[in-house]
Amino acid sequence: MKWLIVFLLAWRACAFEFSGEVARVVDGDSLSVKFGTGEIRVRLFGIDAPEINQIGGWAAKRLLEDLTAGHKIRLRVVDVDKYGRLVAWAWANEINLNRWMIYEGWAWHYRRYSSDFSLFVAEKAAKKAGRGLWHNKTPQSPWMFRRQPVAAQRAPHWLNQTGVRHWPGCRYYRQGAGRLIRKKEGRACAICGG
Ligand SMILES: [Zn+2]
Repeated sequence: MKWLIVFLLAWRACAFEFSGEVARVVDGDSLSVKFGTGEIRVRLFGIDAPEINQIGGWAAKRLLEDLTAGHKIRLRVVDVDKYGRLVAWAWANEINLNRWMIYEGWAWHYRRYSSDFSLFVAEKAAKKAGRGLWHNKTPQSPWMFRRQPVAAQRAPHWLNQTGVRHWPGCRYYRQGAGRLIRKKEGRACAICGG
């Protein structure tokens, strides 16, 4: 895989496109694509989705999984980040994933790295309609979340009365009677994986 990264770094100024099968979705803004016998890690350009243990993280991941399930994805690479991931525009089933994640309200327009107007407009529309994270008027952005000490970033799981454990962002998180837990107790939720 190393030669590929080196090759891409050398050609980072050029737009570079290819298609592939999704190996797995990591969270709402990153995934890996099958390449030969290995995988290439991809970071969606211009967007920032909630971290996996942040409110909304699981829902964002789920949406990206739904959008890519059963489809090849097409990538237009714009850069390589410091973790060696390809930073790219991505399409699945002719849907632009970067834009759609924002439009559905499960990712922010990452303005620090992108001034793309279509992403700006998508975020405006999501906010106006109160979709996804914008159901809350002032959701915590992932870049603010990451600034917290590591211990605070590990949001507690929710253990409901019947002993089922949920991730923050699961629709059953903090629903009904139950309590917040720091250790893994009870059974994992079948939907979010607790
Ligand atoms: Zn759950």
